[in-house]
Amino acid sequence: FARLRGGLQRSSSALTERIAGIFTKRRLDDETLEQLEDALIISDIGVDTSRDLVRDLARGRYGKELSDIEVKEALAGLIAGRLEKLAEPLPHRDQHRPQVVLVCGVNGTGKTTTLGKLAKQATEAGLKVVLAACDTFRAAAVEQLQVWGERNGVPVIAARTGSDPAALAYEALDRARREGADLLMIDTAGRLHNKQVLMEELKKIIRVIKKLDPSAPHDTILILDATTGQNAHSQVDTFKTMVDITGLIVTKLDGTARAGVVVAIGDRYKLPVHAIGIGEKIDDLRPFEALPFARALMG
Ligand code: GDP
Repeated sequence: FARLRGGLQRSSSALTERIAGIFTKRRLDDETLEQLEDALIISDIGVDTSRDLVRDLARGRYGKELSDIEVKEALAGLIAGRLEKLAEPLPHRDQHRPQVVLVCGVNGTGKTTTLGKLAKQATEAGLKVVLAACDTFRAAAVEQLQVWGERNGVPVIAARTGSDPAALAYEALDRARREGADLLMIDTAGRLHNKQVLMEELKKIIRVIKKLDPSAPHDTILILDATTGQNAHSQVDTFKTMVDITGLIVTKLDGTARAGVVVAIGDRYKLPVHAIGIGEKIDDLRPFEALPFARALMG
């Protein structure tokens, strides 16, 4: 919790300053509620969610005198209530061996780093993991995944730069099956500047792996970078048109004042949040827990 609180410090201090500015023992009335709603919106919590939160806060408290601490406590509880159902670790699907996890997201959001972190956690949990470097366009992405793999003793299936990512995904699943792996995680490209090409590439990867396992991919995780704030919404919208997103991981919650975006996105898309990234190191991927997160956000 201390690490999470430290990670979210910039988000929480910006938000708590705004709330403290409104509530130094002031009545919860139309004016303070409106100011509070603005403070939440500025903190990336989203227009609809902020309105709902303020409405719920007013229920039973309207007209009362509240301190900023009381308001923050109440808001943390309300936010946690909204996020609770969405906090869900990446499921282990024992019935599917290997479980195939497709990881997508815009370049730079932390896909490769997150895959490395997930691979370490899965390996430590006793699972046999294989990684597939299907962002074959970027040599750096392939190398980076290989470094993560080597560090954790996890095989990384890679190919020459520019080779067909779908063919590589097929080969990776074939090998993962032959080697009796529990988990295959596939890194994909994130070149959003050419959406059509990216969509076709992702669809082809899925089509091809289905030839070996019609139920695959079992999980399709979208990686979002919290520092992009509202832009994360359009990334969800865009990727939803390309693949069936089954869950999210939000990265870079350390050092951003925009952690509120997790609340907005969770509320809007109702997609499970499997984990959060709070740093660049291998152990900086944490389970997403609603109440600790909401409390950390509120400072
Ligand atoms: P990709 O292009 O989506 O594969 O992104 P990378 O995995 O290469 O990550 C891009 C940059 O973000 C790298 O410098 C990572 O170290 C950094 N990064 C990834 N996750 C986090 C995080 O949770 N916190 C911080 N501070 N940096 C992160």
